[in-house]
Amino acid sequence: MPCLACPRLHLHIRKMTSQRKTSIRTCVACRTASDKNTLTRIVRTSDGEVRVDSTGRLPGRGAYRCGAKECLASAIKHNKLGRALRCEIPGPAIADLESLVVKNDDGK
Ligand SMILES: [Zn+2]
Repeated sequence: MPCLACPRLHLHIRKMTSQRKTSIRTCVACRTASDKNTLTRIVRTSDGEVRVDSTGRLPGRGAYRCGAKECLASAIKHNKLGRALRCEIPGPAIADLESLVVKNDDGK
């Protein structure tokens, strides 16, 4: 949230947070702890919508998973994602996650 009254201070705070040590998160499936930036964040928004959070900034309850295909499969099959987010994962969200894996495979 930008502070309009003190733009310089705001910039200062942003700089400080970006230089902080990286946040470590755990993959819901394999429980491997990794740098947040290397994991995919899945968020349940306050509307109860589950979606892939590509910005890492969506508000709501978040869960993380690593890039491994097995983890996606396991997270869905054993409902680990649902448990982490404390809700049912809707079909469209699962399709989203699956397409993301395909995209990653093509891109690298
Ligand atoms: Zn994993």
